Amino acid sequence: MAVTISALPRIRELAAYEPGLSIDEIRQKYGLERIVKLASNENPLGTSPLVQEAIRRSADLAFRYPRGGNPELVKAIAQRHGVPAKSVVVGNGSDEIIDLLIRILAEAGQREDGEGRDEIVCFEPCFSIYPIQARIAGISLRRCPLKSDLTQDLVSLGKLAGPDTRLVFVTTPDNPTGYCPPVEELAALARHLAEAAPKALLVLDEAYMDFATDETRHSLLATGRLPENVAVLRTFSKSFGLAGLRLGYAILPEQVADCWWRSRLPFSVNILAEQAGLAALADRTFREQTMAVTREGRAFLSSGLARLGCNVWPSSANFLMFSLPESAGTARQCFEALLASGVIIRPLGSYGLPGHLRVSIGTAEENQIFLNGLSEWLKK
Ligand SMILES: *Cc1c(COP(=O)(O)O)cnc(C)c1O
Repeated sequence: MAVTISALPRIRELAAYEPGLSIDEIRQKYGLERIVKLASNENPLGTSPLVQEAIRRSADLAFRYPRGGNPELVKAIAQRHGVPAKSVVVGNGSDEIIDLLIRILAEAGQREDGEGRDEIVCFEPCFSIYPIQARIAGISLRRCPLKSDLTQDLVSLGKLAGPDTRLVFVTTPDNPTGYCPPVEELAALARHLAEAAPKALLVLDEAYMDFATDETRHSLLATGRLPENVAVLRTFSKSFGLAGLRLGYAILPEQVADCWWRSRLPFSVNILAEQAGLAALADRTFREQTMAVTREGRAFLSSGLARLGCNVWPSSANFLMFSLPESAGTARQCFEALLASGVIIRPLGSYGLPGHLRVSIGTAEENQIFLNGLSEWLKK
């Protein structure tokens, strides 16, 4: 008989995650010397010198397995946020945490107890990892459109949740819009879900919360009172500058955290990432410099884009979303012209926003190069 190995239909049809383009790809394609990458919201200051030192110091440990459960790192994170260590999990990027949360809380297909199908509720558009991992796991999605100004309507989102909802995802500050809802609205959503969707975990993805001007106005974690149906995701990829090492964490309800640890692949946070994470948490100087360069760059780029006639959305994150003046070409053409000049930004077609672009805040020099390139293109 002929061999017919075949992935599940839902996997064969999967639209995979589209990462920002890499520097090497573009350098090769256009034969350019200098590339400015403002596509993936990475830290413009690079890797902190103290972290590099910690990685070098730990290099000779690479032959060892890390300790199960990364206890030192968990403790340091628990201290940072004043939460019990039992509620903290660390993963191979927050992507791993998202994926595993979906798989441990939601079941594919009809439930054994015949209750219906498990569902995940999220916005449209949103960070694509939630719908992609949900689809892989075979979980149905209910999606709430953003408002016409591309802000989040948390009340409408809550209305989509019901007895079959297992997870509700909210990105705050939002990617790709930069919008950051007030903490009162999040608290109200958590209260609503506790009544209308008692089996749902509200997952607040705070990958960019460090960049918000006043965390206590936006983060339930920063207020020190996490409702029992709320989880908060954070990452070392952005403000801590460790995107390539893959390290994220979450504060979860304790019994969810316990199940999460039991399901995680034993060593998904490697020994160098663990040491780097500890060093990054201790490095206040680098974080203060990161905040300063982000705030200054955000204000500079925002006014620069507006001066060029672009429509710029207010952002609490380390990137800005904008659309072009009406007289200009398309967002795709703009993206490609900048690319050919060595500046990589992010077109938002894959987010369902074909007229919009996202630019990460770079160093002062990188921001200027981007604005110059855009200005040149707009004049043509
Ligand atoms: C960058 C980002 C993350 C972080 O992902 P990691 O896997 O930790 O690198 C999570 N959520 C959103 C919305 C992001 O943009």
